[in-house]
Amino acid sequence: MAGAGFSCAVIARELAEQGYTVEVFERRNHVAGNCHSERDPKTGVMVHIYGPHIFHTDDEEVWNYVNRFVEFKPYVNRVKATTRGQIFSLPINLHTINQFFGRTFSPKEAEEFIGAQADLSIVDPQTFEEQALRFVGKDLYEAFFKGYTEKQWGISPQELPASILKRLPVRFNYNDNYFFHRYQGMPLEGYTTLVERVLNHPNIKVHLSTSFEREMISRFDHVFYSGPVDGFYGYDIGRLPYRTLDFEVFRDEGDVQGCAVMNYCEASVPYTRITEHKHFSPWEEHKGSICYREFSRACGPDDIPYYPISHVSGNELLEQYQKRASSEKKVTFVGRLGMYRYMDMDVTIRAALDTVREFVSYVGRK
Ligand code: UDP
Repeated sequence: MAGAGFSCAVIARELAEQGYTVEVFERRNHVAGNCHSERDPKTGVMVHIYGPHIFHTDDEEVWNYVNRFVEFKPYVNRVKATTRGQIFSLPINLHTINQFFGRTFSPKEAEEFIGAQADLSIVDPQTFEEQALRFVGKDLYEAFFKGYTEKQWGISPQELPASILKRLPVRFNYNDNYFFHRYQGMPLEGYTTLVERVLNHPNIKVHLSTSFEREMISRFDHVFYSGPVDGFYGYDIGRLPYRTLDFEVFRDEGDVQGCAVMNYCEASVPYTRITEHKHFSPWEEHKGSICYREFSRACGPDDIPYYPISHVSGNELLEQYQKRASSEKKVTFVGRLGMYRYMDMDVTIRAALDTVREFVSYVGRK
């Protein structure tokens, strides 16, 4: 395995349980990839070191899978947003609509009102902007999505696919749960403990602070690679674009912002959101508090890639890399970076389970 995030950890575990011997190479000094969580020595708060991660899924098998290894605490993600000098509730729901337009709409009235704002000339929205204008209208789009999206992705919402906005619900009731999914929670002892337990099997050997190099392929029967697909080929035909994040860390006493995640939707504010980590563990008590101010920018050669950027017009370079990747006999590319796909944790685990099943049905059990 090249990498010790959810993808490779799950594949390693499944193979190990079927009798395979697995080695995992992780170039960082910890497992769990960008889901890594660690206690802040100063405040004792469990910190999502690479930014906020909330586990949510509709996939019962995936939910049962993660619950096999650690206890999950009930957690509902309720996000707030600062824009135009006020604090609103996200995702856009009846409270947001009533507050934003200064109205007292019922669900039906709000739906009719927003329906009247929608640009119905857009029949089949392809871009982020078309999707927004078609379903929430210009005013809400400009207040909540345009600036945030430009900061987050560094390109115009006219160039991004509609699928990115489809991640967020719009509700005509007061349900302010950020996600639609049936199951949602936070691992009691953090994501790193979860991944460590997934990897804790006599047939799995984990090498931390050790990069996987292409020359090592010959030592193994098969390699699952969760690093960036372009990196695997030494970027020989060019670099795929990613966004990276910078976090400005600050600490204070008590409750700093009153919620886990506060988005800053306006383009004039340079950061996208502030995360106050203690609110991810409401069952714990801490006097101090640690916050991350999150800035998004283009990923350079020495930065950690976070988000693959999908263009509505497609990506020729990606197609070339994917073509090469699919012709590799001994290497399977997995995960957000290996597949260059904006996947949530549950989707990553689902993909890993499917990959391993396909592999075993093809190669056979040990
Ligand atoms: N988004 C936005 N305003 C917000 C929150 C999200 O415009 O206040 C857009 C933005 O383009 C973002 C996308 O919706 O990238 C998906 O948001 P999500 O919260 O799922 O992003 P993640 O937590 O994965 O970064």
